[in-house]
Amino acid sequence: STFPGDHSGILTPRQTPGVLYSKAVPTPVEKVTLLAWSAELAEELGIQKPETQQDIDILGGNNVTDTMYPYAACYAGHQFGGWAGQLGDGRAITLGEWEAANGKTFELQLKGAGLTPYSRRADGRAVLRSSVREYLMSEAMHYLGVPTTRALSLVATGEPVLRDMFYNGNAAYEPGAIVMRVAPSFLRFGNFEMLNARKEKENLRQLVDWTIERYYPHIQGEDKVITWFKEIVERTASLMVEWQRVGFVHGVMNTDNMSILGLTIDYGPYSFLDNYDPDFTPNTTDLPGRRYAFGKQPSIAYWNLGCLAAALLPLVEKDQLLPALETFKEVYWRKYYAMMANKLGLDKLSSGDVDLITQFEKALASIQPDMTIFFQLLIDLPLYMGSAQEVADYFKECLYDDLKEEESEQLYTLITAYLDRLNRNSIKRQDSQQLMRQTNPRFILRNYLLHQAIEELEKGATALFEKLQEAVKEPYSDKFDEFFETRPGWATQKAGCSM
Ligand code: AMP
Ligand code: MG
Ligand code: MG
Repeated sequence: STFPGDHSGILTPRQTPGVLYSKAVPTPVEKVTLLAWSAELAEELGIQKPETQQDIDILGGNNVTDTMYPYAACYAGHQFGGWAGQLGDGRAITLGEWEAANGKTFELQLKGAGLTPYSRRADGRAVLRSSVREYLMSEAMHYLGVPTTRALSLVATGEPVLRDMFYNGNAAYEPGAIVMRVAPSFLRFGNFEMLNARKEKENLRQLVDWTIERYYPHIQGEDKVITWFKEIVERTASLMVEWQRVGFVHGVMNTDNMSILGLTIDYGPYSFLDNYDPDFTPNTTDLPGRRYAFGKQPSIAYWNLGCLAAALLPLVEKDQLLPALETFKEVYWRKYYAMMANKLGLDKLSSGDVDLITQFEKALASIQPDMTIFFQLLIDLPLYMGSAQEVADYFKECLYDDLKEEESEQLYTLITAYLDRLNRNSIKRQDSQQLMRQTNPRFILRNYLLHQAIEELEKGATALFEKLQEAVKEPYSDKFDEFFETRPGWATQKAGCSM
């Protein structure tokens, strides 16, 4: 058998021409224990919290009901700039589609539920560490207002999983876990790239038509494919603006990790920025190239959209696709400057504001203050600052290093220009501050906090994990100011393994 679900044989990875997915049954685990449940999402979906072991077993793949049709999707992708060929859901199994009370449908997917025909040489499993990261961060992004897939539940499997910790080179067992992910669809750019690569034009057309009908029903008519592509360009550009707004670095922007709906998808070695470093990548395998660094995300998204455009060539003329792809730049910059104007509390984007924003970017990149705390301090900035020293003292709280003299001057010049601009604001100071409070998060799920919570959880202590589950729900309030501080000295902003 080439199938999981029977535990008898060794599975060999296989190519699956002519199919969009393969039936794949979750492999049962030792014991399913509920560790986290997203009550708000459950409410939205109209799903009750499971109480019996039989129901909890569903969340770990131990109970597949008659109404489910579990499958793994087949997709391909460009990884780190190169064509990687067929990939597919190697450890994700969709159980089926759920219709919520409002008529919206959602794919329910288990991540870490065992081998599928696409597992290649890997084990189809996920560890507690990576599962906690996916569970917490996808919920955090949702509450930040960033388009994202969601997480309904997190369960322990009671089974150890072997992982190579590539920061120390040793293989070690870690506790296994499974997240139930939820999204209208988990389709990626890579699903379309695969069909094009195989020259399966009819399948490609069917998948495109189905995707439009299902998820973009407002798009109709002769030109629907190009109209659809333009909307994906726009959604993807918006998503990049949102990532830049909150300081999110995805870390693995391969085309198999790009959602066709413009959602943040596949939480791996991601991280928020602490200190503002445009060159920061959280992914060890992304060094030294830093392809997926914070500052490069928009241009990588554009590159990835180019891959999607290429995959659509059998269906649309190149001289239609290219200009559509080029709209990315206009859309991105327009939305980006509008977002930055909000971040800075400006009434509108006036002439000169683009220069001011650039001045902010340059100063932040050279001084590298804590991004989140810097913008919070900016909200309550005194409207008169008499000297460079006064400015330096005011921002001390968000600095990781003492300011050099030229940095102090740079900051003073910047803040003077900013105060001058605030003076010309046509909205009240309170309204400007309100705008800033809505745009700049005060609580972010910092990597070191995740790290701490996971370490404690592995020892059976749940306090921090539970606290973080609450904190992610109110990122714009000061309710969780116990976490309002720069990254502590023992932690560094560095790449970390998170498979
Ligand atoms: P990623 O870089 O995490 O998006 O993963 C790239 C590919 O590797 C996807 O096709 C995944 O399904 C697959 N993959 C990652 N981890 C595992 C695993 N533990 N078992 C099976 N497949 C995996
Ligand atoms: Mg992936
Ligand atoms: Mg992944």
